Amino acid sequence: MSENILEDLFIKRSQQKKKTSPLNYKERLFVLTAEKLAYYDYDADKGKRKGLRGSVDVEKIKCVETVETEPNAPQERRFAFQVVYDEGPLYIFAKSENSRTEWITKLKELVRYNKDLMQKYHPCFWADGVWLCCQQEVKQAMGCKILDKNGYASRTRSTRKPLPPTPSEEKPSPSRRLPPQPESAAPSSSMTVIAEYDYTPMTAQDLELRTNEEYTILEKSDPNWWRARDKYGKEGYIPSNYVAEAESGLERFHWYCKNMNRSQAEQLLKSENKDGGFLVRDSSKAGKYTVSLFAKSGAETGGSCRHYNICTTPQGQFYLSEKHNFDTIPELINYHQHNAAGMVCRLKHIVSNRARPPSTAGLGYGVWEIDPHYLTFIKELGTGQFGVVKYGKWQGQHDVAIKMIKEGSMSEDDFIEEAKIMMKLRHENLVQLYGVCTKQRPIYIVTEFLANGCLLTYLKEGLIQHPTADQLLEMCKDVSEGMAYLESQQYIHRDLAARNCLVDANGTVKVTDFGLSRYVLDDEYTSSVGSKFPVRWSPPEVLLYSKFSSKSDIWAYGVLMWEVYTLGRLPYERLNNSEIVDQVSHGFRLYRPQLANERVYKIMTSCWHDKPDERPTFQDLVLIVQDLLYELQ
Ligand code: ADP
Ligand code: MG
Repeated sequence: MSENILEDLFIKRSQQKKKTSPLNYKERLFVLTAEKLAYYDYDADKGKRKGLRGSVDVEKIKCVETVETEPNAPQERRFAFQVVYDEGPLYIFAKSENSRTEWITKLKELVRYNKDLMQKYHPCFWADGVWLCCQQEVKQAMGCKILDKNGYASRTRSTRKPLPPTPSEEKPSPSRRLPPQPESAAPSSSMTVIAEYDYTPMTAQDLELRTNEEYTILEKSDPNWWRARDKYGKEGYIPSNYVAEAESGLERFHWYCKNMNRSQAEQLLKSENKDGGFLVRDSSKAGKYTVSLFAKSGAETGGSCRHYNICTTPQGQFYLSEKHNFDTIPELINYHQHNAAGMVCRLKHIVSNRARPPSTAGLGYGVWEIDPHYLTFIKELGTGQFGVVKYGKWQGQHDVAIKMIKEGSMSEDDFIEEAKIMMKLRHENLVQLYGVCTKQRPIYIVTEFLANGCLLTYLKEGLIQHPTADQLLEMCKDVSEGMAYLESQQYIHRDLAARNCLVDANGTVKVTDFGLSRYVLDDEYTSSVGSKFPVRWSPPEVLLYSKFSSKSDIWAYGVLMWEVYTLGRLPYERLNNSEIVDQVSHGFRLYRPQLANERVYKIMTSCWHDKPDERPTFQDLVLIVQDLLYELQ
């Protein structure tokens, strides 16, 4: 056994690995060796160490930092530090500043070469379901403060709060959290943002945005449309997803492609086809960045992509190859724009995704009723449950998809009410509802247009050639993220399947038609014994008792993963609906697709647990899929 490096009696906060586990503070004897940070029960009378209560492998530690003292913290909890590893932060309270510094210094020294060190962390506690520093409500949310000692932009991020839950879903359970308070109309200390995209006003109330210019935010009462002022003093509403707070300071650099994943980066770099084309993106591991580089040299097949993780030293410096450390990421990029230094070639050409702005929540601030005169119809995309869907333009320039609702196919008034809520749901992996035309018949539903159409067709018709393991998993990740957002809003999809996902020009998958099945007027579709009911995507509790929940969406997600990994086969091909009900409720499950390895299949089967509570949440799935993806890099 290895030698004890440090030993001290500290207070440990319970880790609350489950939401329901209590928050408490216990005195423990902490013992640090080269391999483990272990903590024990301690018998104060006898001055003796007792049973082992837990331990963290030193090699799994990702960050060691101080934690800001909570307001009104008792005397014994004033010197907190955190040890972050796979299972989240372990909070420890030292007795003095000196002892805290000693432990942090020693721990940092030990973890210096760990492979998963974080570049961002949370300076405050996770408490009652929220990070006290940045108000994010997901425990695994990326840190909001960059680890650095050099003054390089490290402001705390103030993220948007999610929308309040919709009133339309099942009755609230007692455990359900209260809706968040509306954001105060005027943001505390005037917030400055940088435009990441140009925005041309769609209504007279909107304000024009120019890429890279700064704007002051005046009001955030609508999470999707903020009131802003430009440098000339002009005021108006802007889409909040077109601007970024200078949070990591990277937003102003054209090579930084926020929200881009590995396969999108490859697709973009390959389509640019420039030797030395590169971009910097968020790594699939939270808090990290990756440089993606396209090189033609030495490749037989016209070029290939490499991905280099930007690593951090314990001192908070950044490096790609160990010999060259930099205080900031821009300095590191600048260096490698001139020197390959270990990479296949230097970073020669910036490749940027800024050319394609994201969709806005509606076509201008406060607009949800759309004037049909502004729509032009270009071509028919297909026919669905509600009738024909067309591709067209709004005001001659914005791509839209228009669902023309066949009369008698939808309970329209109920839907129109619901549409106001749906409009506010905004996530990169949800097909955005732009608005409705309800003053005429048939009514129209106007949404974001996705150039690659329906995911099921995309899979079946081999639109991705020779799909790789990470491409299939990226698709599943996209869906899990969109669904995790719906889950966080307590919004149940009720008809999740590959046919209800669409693929955009970049290959990103987005979920559509959420909640719509409630407005279908067709018994064959709505009754669980109807011929059009999605029996193949339904768990036993839906088939037997029509009990819909986020957990029934999870079951459907497992089936959707199965569709992805079989490239669009029909689930339970050889069985008819009543055979499926019978067999599935007796424990029969879909087989492992050839393209899915055991770990991927394990995710699917976890979604098909017969007890709904035993199934994972979408938030769990996002993390599980992310970890698998990271291993593929
Ligand atoms: P419904 O949900 O009313 O049954 P669908 O959404 O399935 O209808 O639409 C029918 C077809 O139209 C889809 O299979 C898809 O190919 C196409 N489509 C629908 N919405 C869009 C969109 N937003 N962008 C691109 N294609 C779309
Ligand atoms: Mg559909």
